[in-house]
Amino acid sequence: MPSICLEDEDIHDMNQSPSLPIAAWAEGCYIYDTNGKEYLDGSSGPIAVNIGHGVPEVLEAMSGQAKRIVFTYRTQFASQAVLDLTAEILGTAGKRYREVVYTNSGSEATEAALRLVMHHHQAEGDTGRTAILSQIPSYHGMTAGALATSGHPGRREHLRALHDHSASVVPVAAGGSEHLLPGIAEWEAAFASVGAHRIAAVVLEPVGGAAGGAAVVPDEVFRRIEELCRASGALLVADEVMTGFGRTGAWFGHEHAGVTPDIVITGKGLSGGYTPIGACLVGDRVLPGRSAADLAFGHTMSGNPLSAATALAVLRYTREHRLAERAARTGATLRDRLATLAERFSFLGRPRGRGLLLAVPVLQHEEEFRRDPLARRICRTAQRLGLIVYPAGVSTRSQAVLVAPPLTIKENEIDELLLRLARTLDTVRTEAEQGKVA
Ligand code: PMP
Repeated sequence: MPSICLEDEDIHDMNQSPSLPIAAWAEGCYIYDTNGKEYLDGSSGPIAVNIGHGVPEVLEAMSGQAKRIVFTYRTQFASQAVLDLTAEILGTAGKRYREVVYTNSGSEATEAALRLVMHHHQAEGDTGRTAILSQIPSYHGMTAGALATSGHPGRREHLRALHDHSASVVPVAAGGSEHLLPGIAEWEAAFASVGAHRIAAVVLEPVGGAAGGAAVVPDEVFRRIEELCRASGALLVADEVMTGFGRTGAWFGHEHAGVTPDIVITGKGLSGGYTPIGACLVGDRVLPGRSAADLAFGHTMSGNPLSAATALAVLRYTREHRLAERAARTGATLRDRLATLAERFSFLGRPRGRGLLLAVPVLQHEEEFRRDPLARRICRTAQRLGLIVYPAGVSTRSQAVLVAPPLTIKENEIDELLLRLARTLDTVRTEAEQGKVA
């Protein structure tokens, strides 16, 4: 093995580029860097900070819990914060779910969901069910299993060697070029070609995120997938890491279609970005007569009291301030205004999405997209001009800029967001015309 010697200037945190501004503090929809520059958070970070930054109720809950007890291990002690959080989650999810499995991230929650699916079929003696159907494009997390399930070629690139043996994940793609996501015909064909008796689960995001760029699974397609799962004995798993807890204008994204997934994967908005936590909601059919707590999985920090107390405060705030309803209302207005703005730019399509998970599609030739994706350039320019938005998409069809501010965003802040976005798009257009592409 050749040894690698890092020079001093090469040594930096591998997770963050040395050219990034250093964030100093944040409040509501605004973040400030150490130079005092202000950024409007138009994408809630990576669509995580659902209730905005620095909410006093959450900070108080965090410091209160930290002063009492920060960590206990889940097999040694129960934690009141975890018990209360579980009651809160199950209370808002209705009677359809009976247990919550905690993790530290959305990716780990996807892993937990895959394990629960396998446990379910093994318990039923149905060991031939090994195929997981997932969409192209989709993103379910960075860990090996979650990434194997993801229709996101860019993020899979470096782990190809790990995934190539994973014939168990069957991607389902749209048929024609006019649709971004697979429709009823493609799902039916996938069930038929894989063989219904071999399918362990369907995993899908109700609204696409990093890969799908806010493409919405049409309600009738979601309902048909549920029927196909029920008829074949496969489990339906909704990845609601991005869409959960009010983001789409309902508590969960799947509620719009009136379906009942067997497992719901959550993360991000569960703690609104205040601490790392993820969770799977487990439905009645998954482990009849057993508890997921009896199965051998979990992580050292899963369900730690500090994250649980934080998430509890975030969810209570979300519920008490009726942020799902607010996201539905604000999202409708923002979408209309984005559509009006997008008409002024030949390189933008009609906005898509649901609630406050919106995207403006970015149109670009294949070759240019491969060289320098325009959505990324737009997001870099936006940040320079004091606006945070998020690049999404894995192809020219899914490429988009996600606009997904905190659900608490006020009217005057929406005005400001649109102003900064318009300024960004004008700048990108002018720079492109002058051949000054960064
Ligand atoms: N699923 C979806 C739908 C996501 O959007 C993400 C994160 N972007 C994940 C899973 C992975 O979550 P995490 O980054 O917390 O591991």
